[in-house]
Amino acid sequence: MDIRTGFGYDIHRLVEGEYLLLGRIRVPSSCMIDAHSDGDIVLHAVSQALYSAIGEEDIGTHFPDTVNETKGMDSAQLLISAVHDVEKAGFQLSNLVVTIVLEKPKLKDYKEQIKKSLSHLLGMESSRIAVHANTSERLGAVGEGKAIECYSLVTLIKEN
Ligand code: MG
Repeated sequence: MDIRTGFGYDIHRLVEGEYLLLGRIRVPSSCMIDAHSDGDIVLHAVSQALYSAIGEEDIGTHFPDTVNETKGMDSAQLLISAVHDVEKAGFQLSNLVVTIVLEKPKLKDYKEQIKKSLSHLLGMESSRIAVHANTSERLGAVGEGKAIECYSLVTLIKEN
C-alpha cells in the first residue's frame, strides 16, 4: 500500500465586508477575505495539501493570481482540479484535517456545515474529516483581526 501525507497552508488579508467564505459556507462577519479569486481560504489550503501529497506544484503555479482567468474564480474549481489530479495518480482520500485560525467570529456554529460541505465536494465520508478553529490569542496580524490563516493535512492511499 502507498500512503501519502499532504500539507497545505494559506493566509489572506481581511477587509470590511459582510461574510467570510469558508469551505463554500458564508459565515456572517464584519469582514471579508481579500483575494484575487473568491478567497475561499479553506479550499485553497485543502487544494494545496492535495497537490503536495502527490508531489505536485502549489496552487499558485496551477492557478496564478496574476491573470484574468482566475479573477473572482470559484475556488471549488481549484479543489475539483486537485482532486482530479489525485485520482489520476491512482490515490484515494483517506482523511482530511483543516484548522482555521481567526480572531472572530467564533466558528463553533459553522464547523459542522463546513465539514459537510467538504464531505460533499470531496465525495468523502464526513467522519474522515475534521474541521477545527483556533484564535491567535490576539497576537500578530491574525490576532489583530487583519488576517485569516488556514492549515490542512491530508492522507492519501493507493492500494497496490
Ligand atoms: Mg489563497
